[in-house]
Amino acid sequence: MNQYILQIIYLIASVTFIIGLKFLGNPATARKGNLIAAFGMTIAIFGTIFLYTYDENGEAKHLHNLPLIFGALVVGTVLGWIAAKKVQMTAMPEMVSLFNGMGGACAMLISIIEFQHLTENPNLDFASLPVGHILTIIIGMIIGSISFAGSMVAWGKLSGNVKDKSFGKQQFINVGLMLVILLMAYMVVFNGGENAVSLFYGVLVLSLIYGVLFVMPIGGADMPVVISLLNSFTGVAAACGGFLYDNKVMLVGGILVGSAGTLLTIVMCKAMNRSLLNVLIGNFGGGSKGEAAGSSTFEGSIKEVSASDAAILMRYAKKVIIVPGYGLAVAQAQHVVHDLELLLESEGIEVKYAIHPVAGRMPGHMNVLLAESNVSYDKLVEMEEINPEFNTTDVVLVVGANDVVNPAAKTDPNSPIYGMPILDVENAANVIVNKRSMKAGYAGIENELFYKPKTSMLFGDAKKALTQLVSEIKALG
Ligand code: NDP
Repeated sequence: MNQYILQIIYLIASVTFIIGLKFLGNPATARKGNLIAAFGMTIAIFGTIFLYTYDENGEAKHLHNLPLIFGALVVGTVLGWIAAKKVQMTAMPEMVSLFNGMGGACAMLISIIEFQHLTENPNLDFASLPVGHILTIIIGMIIGSISFAGSMVAWGKLSGNVKDKSFGKQQFINVGLMLVILLMAYMVVFNGGENAVSLFYGVLVLSLIYGVLFVMPIGGADMPVVISLLNSFTGVAAACGGFLYDNKVMLVGGILVGSAGTLLTIVMCKAMNRSLLNVLIGNFGGGSKGEAAGSSTFEGSIKEVSASDAAILMRYAKKVIIVPGYGLAVAQAQHVVHDLELLLESEGIEVKYAIHPVAGRMPGHMNVLLAESNVSYDKLVEMEEINPEFNTTDVVLVVGANDVVNPAAKTDPNSPIYGMPILDVENAANVIVNKRSMKAGYAGIENELFYKPKTSMLFGDAKKALTQLVSEIKALG
C-alpha cells in the first residue's frame, strides 16, 4: 500500500517541478514557481523517508540510517537557509555555482557508494554484473565529478578568488584526457576483471581533473555558457541516480534540470556566438585579457558630464533606452532606476530597457533585478529586438554595464569577447555611461565606447548618480 501512496506522491512532485519550471519563465510568477517546486521536493523527500520499502532477501524493509538522514537534512536546511538569507544579490552567481557543485558531488558520491556495494563481495564476478547498471554508475560518476570540480572553479572565479589560467594546447590536453577517461570507463564496464576497482577510482580522479582543466581557462565574457552547461551536467548526473535507484521523481527532476540547462546552454552559446564543442573542450574566451584598463590606445578623449547636464539631455529627449549591467546590481540601483523611468514617462518620454543575455553575473540577472523593483516586464526588451531601435533613440543611459556594450566584440579579432553580439548603443544620438571609474568590466578589457564623441561619462556609484539625476530632472519641472 505504502508503495502506491509513494508513487502518487512522486507523481504529484514531478508535476510540481514542471509547473514550477513553467512559472520560473516569468519574473512575475518566478517566486510562486520556486515555492511550488520546493513543496513537491519536500513531499518527495519525506515520502521517500517514511514510505519507501525495499526487498532484501524477500523481506520488505524501510530505509535505515534515519538519524544520519535527519542530521544531514537539518544541517543542509540550516546552512542553505542562512546562506540564502545572507547572500548579497551580487554574490548570487557564486552561490548558485556552489549549490550546483553540491548537486554534482551528491551524484558522484551516489555512484561511488553504489559501486562499493557492487564490489564489496570478494568473490565478485564482474562479467555477471548487469552492464546497464554499472554503465549508469560510471556515467553518473564522470558527469557528477566534472560538474562538482568545474562548479568549484567557477565559484572561485565568480568570487574573484581564482584567476583564469590556460597553458599552451590546452584544448588538445582536454580532448586527450576525455578520451582516456572514456577508454578507462569502457574497460571498467566491459572488461571488468580485477583491475576494475582501481580503474574506477582512476576515472574518478581524472574526471575531477578534467572538471578543473575545462573551466580554468574560460575567461573573457564566456562564463555564463559554462555555468549553464555545468547546471545541465548536474541534472544529467542526478537522472543517473534516478535510474540506479529506480526512483521516478529523481529521474524526472534530473531530466528537467538536465534539459533546461542544456536549452539554456544552447541559448547562451547563440547569444555569445560560440560553438558548444569549443565550450566542452575549454577552447574559448581565455588567455588574453586585451589592453589593461587605463592605458588606452584609442583615439578621442573622455568627456565627463554633470548630473544636471545629463538631466537636461534626458528631460528633452523623446526616447530613452536604459542599459542595465552588473554595476546596477552592485549599487542596488534597481529601485531608483525605476523611479527615473516613471519620472521620464510622466514627462511623455518613451523609456525602454535593453537587456543583454549575459549582462550581470548570472543568466536572467537583469530581469530578476528589475522585477524586484516592479519594472513592468514588457519594458524589458531583448537584444535582437532592441538593437534596431537605437538609431531612433535620443539618449542611451548605460548604468554599470561595460562588456555588453563594448565595440571590441565586433572590431577586434584579438579581443577575448570577439564575436559576442553586443548592444549597438553607438547608433543612438547620445550615450551617457554611468560607472565609478575607467576600470574594466568582467572581461578585463578597455572599452572604446567611452572615448567616442557621442559618449559622455557620468562618474559615480549608480545609486547615488541616478538619485541625483532624478532630483535634477524634477528640478527642471
Ligand atoms: P561588466 O562586468 O562588463 O561591467 C560592469 C561595470 O559596472 C564595471 O565596468 C564597473 O566599472 C561598473 N560598476 C561596478 N560597480 C558599480 C557601481 N556601484 N556603480 C556604477 N557602476 C559600477 O558588466 P556587464 O553587465 O556589461 O557584462 C557582464 C559580464 O559578466 C560579461 O562579460 C559576462 O559575460 C560576464 N558574466 C556574465 C554572467 C551571466 O550569466 N550573466 C556570468 C559570469 C560572467 P567601475 O568599477 O568603474 O564602476
